[in-house]
Amino acid sequence: LQQVNKIYTSGGKELSVLENINFSVEAGTTLAIVGPSGSGKTTLLGLCAGLDKPTNGKIWLNGQSIEQLSEDGLAAIRNKYVGFIFQNFQLMPTLTALENVMVPLELRGEKHAKTNAMELLEKVGLANRHHHYPAQLSGGEQQRIAIARAFANKPALLFADEPTGNLDAETSEIIVHLIFDLNRAAGTTLVLVTHDVELAAKTQRIIRLKGGKIEQDSMAVSLNNHA
Ligand code: ATP
Repeated sequence: LQQVNKIYTSGGKELSVLENINFSVEAGTTLAIVGPSGSGKTTLLGLCAGLDKPTNGKIWLNGQSIEQLSEDGLAAIRNKYVGFIFQNFQLMPTLTALENVMVPLELRGEKHAKTNAMELLEKVGLANRHHHYPAQLSGGEQQRIAIARAFANKPALLFADEPTGNLDAETSEIIVHLIFDLNRAAGTTLVLVTHDVELAAKTQRIIRLKGGKIEQDSMAVSLNNHA
C-alpha cells in the first residue's frame, strides 16, 4: 500500500478512517494488525484483500495494481489468490455446511470435491454437522465452516478478521494451529486483525493502528512461530 487514504461518506458527512498508510507484506509471511476499536483495522484489511478500493493512494494485491481494475477484474484476482475469514462469515444460507465448503473445490474443477470437503470439515471438528444449514449452526460453528471453506481455496493470501473472536479456548487453539499450518506448509501469506495479544504475538510482524494511522510497525519474530 502506498499513501493510502480511506474516507467514508455517510449521511452527507465525510469520515476519514485511514490516513497515509504505507507498508508492504512479503509473500509467505505473517502479519497482525492491531489497535483500538474503530481505529480502522477492518477497513484496512478489506483494502488489502481487494474487497474495497482506497479513496487515494495505490494498492497492489499479489503484485498487481488494483486501481485500474474493473469490479470483475478485481473479483477474478480475489477468487484466484485470496481467502477470507471474516466476522460476518458470508456462508451461503441455502447450502449445507458441506456444500458451502465444496463450492470453491467445485469451482476449481476438483474431482473429489465432496471427499476433500469432508476432510476439511473433519479438520475443523465439524464433520458431524455436514448436513446442517448455516442457520442451524452456532456462531462459532459458522466461523469454523468459513475457515474450512477458506482453506479449500488454497489461497496464496489469507485475510482473517478476528478469526478466533467467536470461539472457545479449545476451538480457538485448533483454528490458530490450522491457520499457521497453512502458512508454514503452503506458504500462504497471512494477514489478520485481532484484539488477542497472544495471537498477534504468533505472527512475524505487528502493525498497530491508532486513529487511522500506523502508530507502530514491528518486525518482531515470535519464538512460538517456528516452534
Ligand atoms: P473494531 O475493532 O471495533 O472492529 P476497527 O478498528 O476494525 O474496529 P473499522 O471497522 O475499520 O474499525 O471502522 C473504522 C471507522 O470507520 C469506525 O469509526 C466506523 O464507524 C467507520 N466505518 C466503518 N465502515 C463504514 C462504512 N461503510 N461507512 C461509514 N463509516 C464506516
